[in-house]
Amino acid sequence: MHAPIKTAISLALCGALQLVTAHAGAADNAAPAAAPAAAAVLPGDDFFSYANAEWLSSTKIPDDRSSWGGMSQLADETNQRIIKLVEAAAGSSDAEAKKVGDFYRAFMNETAIEARGLSPLTPALDKIRALRDKKELTRALGESIRADVDPLNATNFQTENLFGLWVSQGLNDPKHNVPYLLQGGLGMPDRAYYLDDNERMHRLRTAYQAHIAAMLKLAGFSDPETRAARVFDLERKLAMSHATREDSADMAKSNHTWSLQDFAKKAPGMDWNLFFASAGLKGQKQFMLWHPTAMTGAAKQLQDCSLDAWKDFLAFHTINHNANNLPQAFVDQYFDFYGRTLSGTPQLSVRWKRGLAAVNSAMPDAVGKLYVAQYFPPQAKAKLDGMVANIVKAFHQRIDKLAWMAPATRKEAHAKLDVLYVGVGYPDKWTSYAQLDVKADDAYGNAERAEKLYTAQQLAKLRQPVDRKEWCMPPQLVNAVNLPMQNALNFPAAILQPPFFDLNGTDAANYGAIGAVIGHEISHSFDDTGSQFDSNGRLRDWWTKDDAAHFKTATQALVAQYSAYQAFPDLALNGQLTLSENLSDLAGLAAAYDAFKAANPNAADRDFFLGYARSWRNLVRDASLRRQVMTDGHAPSKWRTYTVRNLDAWYKAFDVRQGQQLYLAPQDRVRVW
Ligand SMILES: [Zn+2]
Repeated sequence: MHAPIKTAISLALCGALQLVTAHAGAADNAAPAAAPAAAAVLPGDDFFSYANAEWLSSTKIPDDRSSWGGMSQLADETNQRIIKLVEAAAGSSDAEAKKVGDFYRAFMNETAIEARGLSPLTPALDKIRALRDKKELTRALGESIRADVDPLNATNFQTENLFGLWVSQGLNDPKHNVPYLLQGGLGMPDRAYYLDDNERMHRLRTAYQAHIAAMLKLAGFSDPETRAARVFDLERKLAMSHATREDSADMAKSNHTWSLQDFAKKAPGMDWNLFFASAGLKGQKQFMLWHPTAMTGAAKQLQDCSLDAWKDFLAFHTINHNANNLPQAFVDQYFDFYGRTLSGTPQLSVRWKRGLAAVNSAMPDAVGKLYVAQYFPPQAKAKLDGMVANIVKAFHQRIDKLAWMAPATRKEAHAKLDVLYVGVGYPDKWTSYAQLDVKADDAYGNAERAEKLYTAQQLAKLRQPVDRKEWCMPPQLVNAVNLPMQNALNFPAAILQPPFFDLNGTDAANYGAIGAVIGHEISHSFDDTGSQFDSNGRLRDWWTKDDAAHFKTATQALVAQYSAYQAFPDLALNGQLTLSENLSDLAGLAAAYDAFKAANPNAADRDFFLGYARSWRNLVRDASLRRQVMTDGHAPSKWRTYTVRNLDAWYKAFDVRQGQQLYLAPQDRVRVW
């Protein structure tokens, strides 16, 4: 549904911390390491196992999970809390809270949904059946556009609609909001699924075509197989004009400005004036094209493919997109393809979890408000705001000490830090749902109206000043994100609780855990992605050639350090693949340490490092670990904790000596920032 909720954030931290034992006041730096619990392992040999000994020996991965750690545990607990708030909200005297409750109730009322059957779909399908020509088709395609993608903050590129829409500040014009258009129209994740020549993809294509037929059949269409073949063929042709996933993530390939006139020239075959007017973009003169070839391809298919094929395409995607608000037969068919076949998920999750996801997606800020009122006290926000200020200050000081950075680059880095917006807990301005009509017995209509309202609110931004403080994550999500163009960070309230942050915990543990997370996200503003956006959020490489070269040389030692870690006897970590994240871990930990010491000059260091290592406690199955090592930009949790070996203070705090596994001679400890 909405981009803000679907987020699988690439910059996000995927780690965990759970403080089982309180180590408040763990004091004497000089004393030999007193291991928590009866750990036999020395901190200098394996800091992860040392710090997490108790948790590791008492925890098992649940049967339905491929891994388990503090973050998954926290997400589970948070959902249990939120669902109680949502259930209670139906009886609230507050109009917005009541809408939250009613939205959820409508979704949970399976009897009502079964009784309504196909009727919620009927008006939309009738409208599609009545389309008489390509002109009417163009209007219908325009009307189906929703603000449902976010290529930069949420790296969400996928939409079943012909195009995806995102409204944000301009890559080259940060003072104004502009509409970004993305490729769309595919029911499978991307072009590779339609075009790659291998057995798995062949199998998925067959399954997908069968899924299209099954959905059309459930909705009462004649000749579902013939129609499914037509829809699939149309999507395959669209896919041929699509960019790959890698190219989608490449900013330099995604930065195209088209005027309205450009569309007729560069993407002939479509009445673009009519299309944009129907999409709510009438009068818009400039567009940002993330995927220009897809515009050309779609316009050509609009001309070449039959009206009937397009009508089937629209009908199928209307059904498919709304399947989860229709009777159980639709839900099951949808899960059979998207869950079981495409993702290998054995079982549909329980209804209340899906209901929670639905209301979180439709009214994220309304649910967030309820959550914050109950679980995020003002003292927590004040404390964290103070920590953020100290960590930002630590970064300023570190930048001043960087010998390799040119003065002009250093100046811009300071400027970037000066304007950095760090959102803690919840947004300054909440989204309003006053215009949203929620009915306690209309799951389908509620979801549809919520999407339309969200799109209208996004389109309205085109006539409003840029708001760098707009959030892209709801407060109730256990996650964190760096928004490179806005030069902003979001730390939702839900991640700001134990085990990551404890209002009653020690400063040492808090700086080691959430402090390092904050530092990690800040440092992304100055890495290979961050160096492409200046302090205004303009797409512009602000590093000199020399800076980039020095940076590259300095980082090679870290590449080597991680490539030397063996996850399995036959599989080592990929230091190059994980470099950006490892650098952020190192910079974040170092800055958090500086901030901790500045705020608490006399405090001992042990809790700081233990807090950090515990934030990464995690168990993972072998198959999953192998996949992570091969494909994930983040190093697996255990090796992330080994970042500590690059900080001198860690050696003193745990009496780490030459000959121990993690020991590095002082000149081999990596210092980039
Ligand atoms: Zn990161």
